[in-house]
Amino acid sequence: MRIGLISDVHANIAALQAVLADLDRRGVDEIICLGDCIGYGPDPALCLDILFESCSAIVAGNHDHAAVGLLKDSSFNPLARQAVAYARDRLRPEQLDQLRELPLEIEREGLLLVHSSPFRPDEFPYLHSCDDAAEAFAARPFSVAVCGHTHVPLCFRSRGRPPRISVSLNPAIDLSEPGRVLCNVGSVGQPRDRDPRASYALFDGAKRSIHLHRVAYDIRATSKKIVAAGLPEALGRRLFAGV
Ligand code: ZN
Repeated sequence: MRIGLISDVHANIAALQAVLADLDRRGVDEIICLGDCIGYGPDPALCLDILFESCSAIVAGNHDHAAVGLLKDSSFNPLARQAVAYARDRLRPEQLDQLRELPLEIEREGLLLVHSSPFRPDEFPYLHSCDDAAEAFAARPFSVAVCGHTHVPLCFRSRGRPPRISVSLNPAIDLSEPGRVLCNVGSVGQPRDRDPRASYALFDGAKRSIHLHRVAYDIRATSKKIVAAGLPEALGRRLFAGV
């Protein structure tokens, strides 16, 4: 079983189409989205339609929940809040219902799939450091979890007892190695690791591996659309720098 794992599309249709084309070229059995379909980008309704068409499952992100009032957006920065309001105004009523019904986590092929963290997924904590990851590893007995949320692709591994947590940026993740894994697939529509290319992961059940991939897309087109939509210009500028 080969599963494409995408996250944080954030209404960026050019990035989503580039990633779906790359997945199609490589060949996958299914695609699963780890949330934050909307917010920041100019095409929330179109992206949501394509995601529901292309993905076998979608889990809820904090922006998805904020758009339908399941999460207060008071913790969001002003740019993010403005973009959530923009999405809310453009989604059709049935799309808002779709967002409301997304699960917070799912399991597939032994993978725990969640937007933010296996630890308190309904509160959407950020896993930036090994200390953050240690809390998530301690909270639940998963062997491999996959998430998004920080928009930074990387892999935490927990080994030994007492557990030692390490972090790796290596795109090739061997799941047959000893230890537990917490993999972040990065963001399709708004990467923040200073690499502006869209990020996603490919799980291969037979090879017991996850590989992090990057795909170039037309950032200029998305940036122009952001300005034309009346969204803050800064949301377009940051895409060029990958921050
Ligand atoms: Zn996000």
